[in-house]
Amino acid sequence: MARIVLRNPRREVTIDAPKRVKVVLRELDLDPDAVLVIRGEDLLTREDVIGSDDDIEIRPVISGGAVGTHTKCRRCGGRGVIELRRHNAAFCKECFLHFFREQVKRAVEHEQMLDRTDRVLVAVSGGKDSLALWDVLIELGYDTTGYHIVLWTDEEYAPESLRYTQAFADERGVKLIVCDIREELGFTIPELPKTTGRPTCGACGLTKRHQISKAAYDLGFDVVAIGHNLDDEAAVLLGNVLRWDTDYLARQAPVLPATDEGFVKKVKPLFRLSERETAAYAFLKKIDYQVEECPLVAGNTQLKYKAALDLLERDAPGTKAAFYLTFLDRAKPAIAKPEMHPCPACGMPTPGETCAFCKMTQVHIKRKR
Ligand code: AMP
Ligand code: ZN
Repeated sequence: MARIVLRNPRREVTIDAPKRVKVVLRELDLDPDAVLVIRGEDLLTREDVIGSDDDIEIRPVISGGAVGTHTKCRRCGGRGVIELRRHNAAFCKECFLHFFREQVKRAVEHEQMLDRTDRVLVAVSGGKDSLALWDVLIELGYDTTGYHIVLWTDEEYAPESLRYTQAFADERGVKLIVCDIREELGFTIPELPKTTGRPTCGACGLTKRHQISKAAYDLGFDVVAIGHNLDDEAAVLLGNVLRWDTDYLARQAPVLPATDEGFVKKVKPLFRLSERETAAYAFLKKIDYQVEECPLVAGNTQLKYKAALDLLERDAPGTKAAFYLTFLDRAKPAIAKPEMHPCPACGMPTPGETCAFCKMTQVHIKRKR
């Protein structure tokens, strides 16, 4: 019998072993594209065999690409630990880490995201993407400082996010700036839906974007780096396309340039990497990250867009990358950019009169009284 721990929600099962990973996943009705199978410090592919004394963890990563029969590393011929169907390849640990770094390097250099002299503020949530991003940027030798926002404090999730983030910074001896939005803005995220009628994730996204940009400007950073990956960007794109929201489509990009009105350049160096790839990187680099989903995420439409894209990706690996990367190449240049003005309340550039964040907080303050 082998013991299997499943995460999100956490539960335990025992299975008859030895058995191949793919058989176990089928029996548990799990999509191999959406999980990492972990034994000790190792990742297992679908063809690996789970032994009778094994302790296995199956960790959801939401999206990506496994399956296929590639179990040899494409680069060195060693044992593959991760299959990337989109690239029609498998990699061993070292070669996967190399591949990951090269993808980030390519994004950074090709899109002129960062200069060696830039002071970079890395927005870190405590999740796999932003901690993987910070790790690679440190390895590539950039001058980075972490920035973590405590979004609310009364539940376990937020203090835990801070613990992961702080531990990462302490281990590497890098600087982390922590911002408690209750102190900074006078409210926390769970209050906003009631007063403003906005869905939680939308209100949270607006607040985070505003606070990160404002802090970068106030503290004199040259660039802000955020952890959005290919799956995030493709899901946002699908949402924008379904509404044909041309203002958002014109502004959706891996690099948002600085403006005279106080907006610091913002970059997404992980835009070529899938969620599963960032999860595998974080795991293989032994980065301790928050696996649990945010408890406020229920009903998030972006997760539905991700699920829809995953469905397409399963039958045709590469669909997501083609959707987003081809949009950047071919469709985006044809869409007229809206004229931006500084928001009269906060100074951030916005296509409307008052920016969406300031509109939201004005409503919140009025209704709260
Ligand atoms: P999310 O909107 O949660 O998918 O996060 C997207 C990106 O925003 C992350 O990769 C981080 O770079 C940044 N971010 C999210 N939450 C926080 C937070 N609490 N503090 C600082 N940055 C964050
Ligand atoms: Zn504003």
